[in-house]
Amino acid sequence: MTVVNLLSCYVEEYEDVQVYKCCAFGHTIKNCSKKAGICFKCGIEGHVGRECKNERKDCPNCRKAKKEERSRNHSADDRSCSVYISKLEELREKTDCGQ
Ligand SMILES: [Zn+2]
Ligand SMILES: [Zn+2]
Ligand SMILES: [Zn+2]
Repeated sequence: MTVVNLLSCYVEEYEDVQVYKCCAFGHTIKNCSKKAGICFKCGIEGHVGRECKNERKDCPNCRKAKKEERSRNHSADDRSCSVYISKLEELREKTDCGQ
């Protein structure tokens, strides 16, 4: 199965598990312990993505996963994010997507 098929199949589940406030996976916004939001574009705490004025992107999930700086130049909701893709893989194992 290609990544593209995987994405179109699992993107809905994914959107349920990523908290847009802190960009982390696996809990809902009600369960989020973060007081301030983390920008999903530049990864800086205290503002959200739509208020972001930073030119440079720095994916907070990739930073947390200690990826190299040059591979973090995308936002946390980027479909090519390697953390995102591995989370989708996890979901794929848990979810029967009819395949
Ligand atoms: Zn959270
Ligand atoms: Zn920002
Ligand atoms: Zn990323």
